[in-house]
Amino acid sequence: MLTQAPRGTKDVLPAESYRWQYLEEKMRQAASLAGYREVRTPVFEHTELFLRGVGDTTDIVQKEMYTFRDKGDRSITLKPEGTAGAVRCFLEHNLYADALPCKMFYLNAPIFRYENPQSGRLREHHQFGMECFGAREATTDAELILTAYRLLQELGIRNLSVEINSIGCPSCRPVYHKRLKEFLGDRIGGMCETCRERFGRNPLRVLDCKEKKCQEITRDAPSMLDLLCDECREHFEELQQCLSRAGIPYRVNSRIVRGLDYYTKTVFELVTETKDGKLTVCGGGRYDNLVQQIGEQDIPAVGFGMGIERVLMLLDADGVIIPNRSQYEVFVTYMGANRLYAFDLVQKMRESGIRADMDHCGRSLKAQFKYANKTGAPLTAVIGDEEAAAGNVKIKNMSTGEEAVVSVGEACGRVHAMLG
Ligand code: ATP
Ligand code: MG
Repeated sequence: MLTQAPRGTKDVLPAESYRWQYLEEKMRQAASLAGYREVRTPVFEHTELFLRGVGDTTDIVQKEMYTFRDKGDRSITLKPEGTAGAVRCFLEHNLYADALPCKMFYLNAPIFRYENPQSGRLREHHQFGMECFGAREATTDAELILTAYRLLQELGIRNLSVEINSIGCPSCRPVYHKRLKEFLGDRIGGMCETCRERFGRNPLRVLDCKEKKCQEITRDAPSMLDLLCDECREHFEELQQCLSRAGIPYRVNSRIVRGLDYYTKTVFELVTETKDGKLTVCGGGRYDNLVQQIGEQDIPAVGFGMGIERVLMLLDADGVIIPNRSQYEVFVTYMGANRLYAFDLVQKMRESGIRADMDHCGRSLKAQFKYANKTGAPLTAVIGDEEAAAGNVKIKNMSTGEEAVVSVGEACGRVHAMLG
């Protein structure tokens, strides 16, 4: 128990954190190219925010939230998605008072869902997300899809496809709901238990079911796309024009409905084919009524969330090598009596910006070399008794074997030169 993390959580170990940092950098770059700036919101919010924001007919709110009472007897929930917190922040700080649109992104936000842990499905995962408030045109929907697509492409993820759909708005969706309910009416009995529940609460969600048998039954379900009002249809057409002009492949898939209640018009997913089937790495859409549902301002918005663990999983599966650097640039090895001499040299090197270290574990000189090798340090500095007596140090290039004996005063300059 004490040495085991809770089910569905994962540590990022010191030796692998460079992979996360690499993604963070690429994500920052991608977002800032389109003018998005970082927002950081708390890990927990009032439960009410998610009931209102995410929608109480969703799987998340029904079954997956980590909710508890704090010592002040307030109901608190660990963030089960990123958008509601961003909307709350946008409203609380009157960000709508500035010129719109307001563009923000969040990086590595921890997301908590009580799910059945399996490959690609954790109880704590992390998301990169982008949200844009105050822009109603489809050019923004396209901007977000393109940013996510280019980012994943640039990272080296293969077999990536963009799937888009429109789920209409409160003026055209009710007609569709009715049609869908009629269609499902005599078929629902053959569907899974969750779908039978969804049928009563929110029939659209039945299309999102991952069970084969349910997907089969709804294959010929009516499509929302045939029932869009003029405004929603024009919006969807413009989105497609934008994606075509930008030259990215996309597919209209009328089964994409997304797991959250707040979407209007555009919904999209970036999907890859893996050996275990389809994997969604990014999902998002437009939520023109959510801001008003939480605050009062009628402000349209659109955004997406991307699962970091899934991105890393895909990079692994595609054999993409993420650049890493060795822990040290120089490892200083020394004969026992020269430990403080070595200590001084290490401090000098660090002061001049060289990543350096020495043995702190009482190893023999031979074992120090072995250890230095293991750390992958490109250079070692050797302090034998002879070097110490003369105020020198021998610097050695571990891959070419090239050696140079220099005075301690010249050591840093020489290291910089040898590192190139
Ligand atoms: P799914 O259909 O796979 O359950 P979702 O629709 O619930 O996904 P979103 O709420 O859209 O997912 O979250 C955005 C992204 O976050 C997903 O596309 C996925 O990459 C990632 N994600 C969602 N849930 C998990 C999880 N439990 N573990 C790891 N990553 C997740
Ligand atoms: Mg889910």
